[in-house]
Amino acid sequence: MKNIFENSNKLIDPFGRDVNYLRVSVTDRCDFRCTYCMAEDMQFLPKKDILSLEELETVCRVFMKLGTRKIRLTGGEPLVRKGIMQVIKNLGKEVGNSLDELTITTNGSQLETKAEDLYNAGVRRINVSLDHLDPLKFKEITRWGDLEKVKRGLHKAREVGLKIKINTVAISNFNQSHLPDILKWCGEEGFDMTIIEVMPMGDIGGDTRYGQYLPLSQVRQDLEKEFTLKDLPERTSGPARYVSVEETKNKLGFITPLTHNFCESCNRVRLTCTGILYMCLGQDDNADLKTVLRDKGAEALEDAIRSAIGRKPKGHDFEISRQSTNVSVNRHMSLTGG
Ligand code: SAM
Ligand code: SF4
Repeated sequence: MKNIFENSNKLIDPFGRDVNYLRVSVTDRCDFRCTYCMAEDMQFLPKKDILSLEELETVCRVFMKLGTRKIRLTGGEPLVRKGIMQVIKNLGKEVGNSLDELTITTNGSQLETKAEDLYNAGVRRINVSLDHLDPLKFKEITRWGDLEKVKRGLHKAREVGLKIKINTVAISNFNQSHLPDILKWCGEEGFDMTIIEVMPMGDIGGDTRYGQYLPLSQVRQDLEKEFTLKDLPERTSGPARYVSVEETKNKLGFITPLTHNFCESCNRVRLTCTGILYMCLGQDDNADLKTVLRDKGAEALEDAIRSAIGRKPKGHDFEISRQSTNVSVNRHMSLTGG
């Protein structure tokens, strides 16, 4: 019998890019309500609309068959999804074989109890989001988060051997002047840091995007008053550009989808927790893999994925300006996965 997960030809898009990186949002739910990401009264999707854990794993395995070498699980908060640890364990067994890497992006709230299992499952690196080191400010931006708990989780993760990168969204009038402190703290703790430019995704209620937007060109200029930043040659086929920081001895990344176009080397696609494949974070064209899987079975996924990759656009064009409307892409980051 034909093994539907056996390796076959890689996914190459119309611009010659080898699409070998899949980011999967495993849930739209979260135990935080970060103000730039979600409205406080977020309505979450009914269970039937969400890929089951088995379906999630099947889609990942078909991607692996088609040459995917790296999978990042994200969300919502991936570690609050019930049963997700089993999926992580199953996929983790492929690290070193069909996969080079399995990584997680998390808010850190569950790390105290789950870091060790992640390491044992084969995860070696995690990204943890943290936008402020003052407990009250942390509460303000996450609405529901507990900084001390996240810090305990981070320390546990470090202790079990996970390499940690802190993701910080640069938010005007919120953490602009605090970014040097976070960078210093990351150096002391042995973490790398990535600063992310706020992106116009989904209705967040209240605040307008323009009020939150802070260009990273400005952030870099400010940091250079205190730190010696040296451009690193490494590129990740992604939106991050890295520098070394002489004073803190760690690495700092800038993710600038708005001020820089990073699309030419894009090697990734994103799967929502509802089984929709987005070929570009900033565009709406997509492929409904859940319907294909449920109506026609896993065998039909390969063709559906190939056809979707055949439509991967050259790039995107986000816009934030005073004139633009609040939302440029009408879906939340928690659905698509950050
Ligand atoms: N809950 C996990 C976390 O917070 O790390 C994973 C999902 S979260 C959507 C992934 C990343 O997206 C986080 O680093 C978060 O800060 C970032 N993010 C969410 N909404 C964003 C937005 N509108 N613009 C830029 N980054 C955003
Ligand atoms: Fe949750 Fe992450 Fe969005 Fe914050 S950024 S609300 S932690 S999904």
